[in-house]
Amino acid sequence: MNRRIGILGGTLDPIHCGHLEAAIAARDALQLTEVRILPSRVPPHRAVQPVASSFHRFAMAALAVNGIDGLVASDAELCVSGPSYTADTLDRMRGSGIDGLQIFFITGADAFAEIATWHRYPEVLDLAHFVVVSRPGHAMNDMRRGLPALSSRMRSAGEVMRSGASTLGHPSILLVETSTPDVSSTSIRERLRLGETVNGLVPRAVERHIHQHGLYRGNVRAQADMRTADQLHGED
Ligand code: ATP
Ligand code: MG
Repeated sequence: MNRRIGILGGTLDPIHCGHLEAAIAARDALQLTEVRILPSRVPPHRAVQPVASSFHRFAMAALAVNGIDGLVASDAELCVSGPSYTADTLDRMRGSGIDGLQIFFITGADAFAEIATWHRYPEVLDLAHFVVVSRPGHAMNDMRRGLPALSSRMRSAGEVMRSGASTLGHPSILLVETSTPDVSSTSIRERLRLGETVNGLVPRAVERHIHQHGLYRGNVRAQADMRTADQLHGED
């Protein structure tokens, strides 16, 4: 089978078990050769900044994927200037010789529900396959209902694979129903700010990194301002 590359991008501030489970579910549902985990770049002039630096966010992503089959941390969005827009990231991958039909861009159902606000929508949907993974509190059906114009492009990943991967001759929106842990980076930052444990919510190595480097302790900006910067994967 052809190489099939998954991409999971986001602020990852910090990466947690929900991200990993979503990546693993997509990997297994679509027989992806690898899944690249991409912390996004947020330029300094942006109003909403991640709490941890790009360096720490990348370090935590690398620690998190250690030992997990097929998952790798990628600095692809950190190595270019400007904000990380999915369409631009996909363009660069295609420019490096990877066919768009070999790329599977993974999002949670909450992020995909906002797709119409993304940079270069709807063109972005033609640059690769999109894989939408269910997320607790964000029902797949609600997401579908909210995007009627796209429903004809949506297909269950399981059905597609059962009918043979050759049916993916054009960019598709592939739905993966699974149960990922009910965890978010926002809730983890809040727990750490309050001095609560994040044991079981992030991999052990990430938890150690957070404590060793004193990340997310007390000096976190008001949570009201912490509208996630992963919207850089979408709107401006
Ligand atoms: P924040 O609270 O800062 O927004 P987050 O937990 O939503 O953080 P992001 O970095 O915003 O994490 O998410 C990156 C991608 O991972 C998004 O596409 C998001 O939908 C997906 N994702 C995050 N957590 C889960 C989860 N528990 N299940 C499925 N997908 C998830
Ligand atoms: Mg988010």
